[in-house]
Amino acid sequence: MPEYFVDLHIHIGRTNSGKPVKITASKSLTLMNIVDYSQRIKGLNIIGIIDSHSPEVIEELKECLQRSEAEEVSGGGILFRNGITLLLGSELEIYPENCAGPFHILTYFPTIKAMQSFSDWLSERVTNINLSTQRVYEKSDVIQLKVKELNGLFIPAHAFTPHKGVYGKGVQESLTEVFRLSDIDGIELGLSSDTNLVNGISELAHISFISNSDAHSLEKIGREYQLIKMEQPSFEEFALALHKKKGRHIIKNFGLNPRLGKYYHTSCEICFTHVGEHTVCPHCLSKKITKGVFERLQELSDPNHKKVERPPYVHQIPLEFIPKLGPKTLTKLRDHFGNEMNIIHQASFSQLKEVVNEPIAKAIVLSRTGELSIIAGGAGKYGKVE
Ligand SMILES: [Zn+2]
Ligand SMILES: [Zn+2]
Ligand SMILES: [Zn+2]
Repeated sequence: MPEYFVDLHIHIGRTNSGKPVKITASKSLTLMNIVDYSQRIKGLNIIGIIDSHSPEVIEELKECLQRSEAEEVSGGGILFRNGITLLLGSELEIYPENCAGPFHILTYFPTIKAMQSFSDWLSERVTNINLSTQRVYEKSDVIQLKVKELNGLFIPAHAFTPHKGVYGKGVQESLTEVFRLSDIDGIELGLSSDTNLVNGISELAHISFISNSDAHSLEKIGREYQLIKMEQPSFEEFALALHKKKGRHIIKNFGLNPRLGKYYHTSCEICFTHVGEHTVCPHCLSKKITKGVFERLQELSDPNHKKVERPPYVHQIPLEFIPKLGPKTLTKLRDHFGNEMNIIHQASFSQLKEVVNEPIAKAIVLSRTGELSIIAGGAGKYGKVE
């Protein structure tokens, strides 16, 4: 059965006519740029556009079909001429009454028609349907029901981050405080966590973990992704893989070492000192503390829970984190090896050395085995490779 590289959380910065969708995202993040860049530069096979509910994005997709630049495939999804398959997604913000704060969820639908219906339904419950990740004024179980009615997939986004993660900010200890567990199709791990850290949460034992980039710029596409075994690139096949049916399954997750993530350790928001259990920063005495994903996961994990067998999570250090690897060197590497998948995973030390100096070649090879030493991140500041 074939294997595909998949990143399902990519935002749209601007529509074709220049209107903002995700306001904070890069202007170059347009639909056609994403389709091109993901395939040619990043080497991905399937991408999820997480702002597909936006009416102008739906129109652009329809125009692609009319111009025969793309076609809807029978199992759901849109196949572009360059060979990449697009899944239609929408990220939402919800804030149930019993929660400490708002958080994000991801939804995916098989067809443009289903996404159109969802968008129409959503437009009566958000302030501005054209924009990304809008707060939905509706009960969480009603949203879940609507997604299921349209044969969609429902996946909490970056579930453990202290800002906008369902476990990080929403619920006290269980997803059942807001959702029906049986209608959750997966959990997006997010940057500061990985399979090993999350595997101690007993209520997630039967739910697949996915790892996506949450890209706000072209460069960030493919920062996290997964390799999936499935018969063909389509929505239905992806749904089977999430539920480990008919031999379809996620083979590996690839993502940042969690220590490189922005919210790994509980830290001071002013000076970024890791504060551990302290509620006041011992360094600058600030009381503005952001809880770390690591510490939150320790609270949520059940020490008696028998860890389930899961696909390996491969720590990958994106090329931008490699010390001294600037944009010029990156272009040289891409020109030589075709796309980033080849640089990150395939090229041998001696092949790399033909293009870049020895320390960089060595760092790329070491990044594959987790042997680079890392200073952990926290309170919004990324970790660093030493
Ligand atoms: Zn989000
Ligand atoms: Zn997002
Ligand atoms: Zn401080």
